Amino acid sequence: MKKTGQLPFEHTPSSSPSKRGRKSISPPFEGGARGGLKKGVSTSKFVQLSPSTISLYKECKRCFWLQLKQGIYKPRGIFPSLPGGMDSVIKVYYDKFRGTKTGLPPELVGKVNGKLYDDQRLLSSWRSRTGGLTYFDDKLNAKLLGLLDDCLVIDEGGPSASPSGLRSGQVARSYVPLDYKTRGWEPKEDSSDFYQHQLDIYEFLLQANGMATKGLGYLVYYHPIEVRENGVVQFEVTPKAMKTDPQRAKKLFEEAVKLLRSDEIPKPSAKCEFCPWGQRQGEYA
Ligand code: SF4
Repeated sequence: MKKTGQLPFEHTPSSSPSKRGRKSISPPFEGGARGGLKKGVSTSKFVQLSPSTISLYKECKRCFWLQLKQGIYKPRGIFPSLPGGMDSVIKVYYDKFRGTKTGLPPELVGKVNGKLYDDQRLLSSWRSRTGGLTYFDDKLNAKLLGLLDDCLVIDEGGPSASPSGLRSGQVARSYVPLDYKTRGWEPKEDSSDFYQHQLDIYEFLLQANGMATKGLGYLVYYHPIEVRENGVVQFEVTPKAMKTDPQRAKKLFEEAVKLLRSDEIPKPSAKCEFCPWGQRQGEYA
């Protein structure tokens, strides 16, 4: 297949991230000059992936390969803006409860473990496209970038109890990724599986940035149940706890990068109708 130009997420090794940043952590508010490559670092072109590009990798390896390696995108149709708008207003709403006594919106009290992470500045940087949580793999010359919706913290220990071998007064903090999901309907039992890799990736990124985790993440679903006067829409809020596995995320990331290094185009997904449609309509072009 003919190449269509430079790949969307590639640049040359000489413009790779700095030695410090490349180790694993890109502190959200620290910039820093980008330096030369460390000894033993891959000289292949730099690749950046995210939870959404890894979703594409899971859905169809061919589409992933075409999009990231060749810059050929599947037709996207009209993109619904409601989930993005909901995410924005939910973030503002959650921020009101950060650092309060309960540390949670009332509808989540007693339904999730922990409290909202109270460092607004750091959380805002994890949410930002100019920051985010990042991980660099020197050998692969690849970066994984994730933007968190929110994060809970679970503090164990303190003055009284001392679980997990903590000394009296010592507090151990764990970080739990939380992602909002707006749906048209009540979520089905198995719909969360679709987002498993996303929470795995967030946990992996938290760990890579030096934060302890608990193998736990939350999806918080919002779905509409009624409309009231003056355009007020009542949403049902359903938190769903998910077991997470950062090693699963790392493996997916490595596999996806490996596929991008290959020149062999993968087979199309059997579940997608676009490729057969494209082939058939091509017969009449
Ligand atoms: S099968 Fe669908 S998702 Fe896969 S390459 Fe073709 S158009 Fe893209």
